[in-house]
Amino acid sequence: MLRRERVTPVENSDQSLNRRERSLPPLPFRNTFRENSSIRILFKCVLSNTILDVLSRRTGWEVATGEEWNFHWATREWMSTSFDRYKFTSRQFVNHFRNDFELTRKDNLIKNFKKMKRTLEKNKSKEFAKYSFMPASYVLPSEYHIFVEEFKKYPDNTIWIMKPVAGAQGRGIFLFRRLKHIQEWKKKDVTGCDAQPYVVQAYISRPYLIGGKKFDARIYVLVTSFRPLTAWVHREGFARFSHSRYTTDCVEDAFVHLTNVAIAKTAPDYDPEKGLKWSLNRLIRFYESSFSKQRVQEMISDLANLIVNSLKCVESLIIQDSHCFELYGYDVLFDEDLKPWLLEVNASPSLTASSQDDYRLKYRVLSHMLDIIDLEGKREGNEIHVGGFDQLINKGVIVERTRGPDPHNCFIPSVNLRLGEYHESKIK
Ligand code: ADP
Repeated sequence: MLRRERVTPVENSDQSLNRRERSLPPLPFRNTFRENSSIRILFKCVLSNTILDVLSRRTGWEVATGEEWNFHWATREWMSTSFDRYKFTSRQFVNHFRNDFELTRKDNLIKNFKKMKRTLEKNKSKEFAKYSFMPASYVLPSEYHIFVEEFKKYPDNTIWIMKPVAGAQGRGIFLFRRLKHIQEWKKKDVTGCDAQPYVVQAYISRPYLIGGKKFDARIYVLVTSFRPLTAWVHREGFARFSHSRYTTDCVEDAFVHLTNVAIAKTAPDYDPEKGLKWSLNRLIRFYESSFSKQRVQEMISDLANLIVNSLKCVESLIIQDSHCFELYGYDVLFDEDLKPWLLEVNASPSLTASSQDDYRLKYRVLSHMLDIIDLEGKREGNEIHVGGFDQLINKGVIVERTRGPDPHNCFIPSVNLRLGEYHESKIK
């Protein structure tokens, strides 16, 4: 197991910062659409973090006290126990798709990704080349023998990473170089039962480093429909840095290899003020200062490809329902060539703020999400930018925007993804 002292759960838990924040004066937050004071929308929400603040402060929105509601920020439990029996009426929305685990459980994502690749390969489709955004991955124990065969084909010092299939916050993750280390793990299962289901993945051992540290990026993706596929990406997000400087000399140190905030927080010398988080804006500006604008734009196109095609892997599997939408937290790692790799997709990205800036960011993402869901009926319907969200794919068609002019004075079409470009005052 990677070395770390203690993990404090932060995802989805109510934290004191949020309670304090709630008593602050209203945020300097510009509404995307004009207010409509005659509207009345009833919501249900069991969480008591940023999402509750956003819902409670929204004009015309009230907590549902009875059975009647328009918007339900539901738990996973409600989705599995009550969703199928619930008789929806037309103006009702819930924040998950019934079987989102096809995308958000690590083992399902890998299975669906590989299935898609197999189909494209069989059909000799040109799309096949677009599916190289996940490292070689195997689900254990079911693919153990295939993994062993593949393992032998890699150079001796290749590093692999083992992750529990339904884990979060870096819990239970470890790195290894020799097969005997997972054989030991199989025997060592603490309950004495069969080894827990894990995924094993080729470790991205040459990550892009900033200040000698590894980081990954959290990107917010809102899916309003899987069939036809319609998805939006928010311009804001953040990068999370590991606690310690990167090296492959020691694969046991979680503070070096894992970028989860929950892990960094357990370091004895953890200092929340030391800045283990960067905004996406700062990250993109940093890239622009290190690479050409064109290279950064290529990286953004690769990210768009990663998002769209990961969603396509499950497009036909997700139970489509017009009452459902979902805000996913994509975790992406950049290697030293700036290639983005998909690590995982979170169904319930943390809405608990770690600082005031983080609170404001999450507040905006959630408010803009409600603007897109549009229970108030304020949208015209053909917008491709709403608040900080840009529409990436609309009814299965990639949305493009015109950039330019370039040095030759031509306007170049590019994918409608403007990561890091959110500026409150400039948003139309
Ligand atoms: P969890 O759900 O427990 O957070 P992740 O898959 O997000 O699991 O992995 C946790 C961390 O481990 C990531 O934030 C990243 O820093 C590191 N990590 C995961 N997979 C890889 C990989 N294939 N290569 C390099 N680092 C990885």
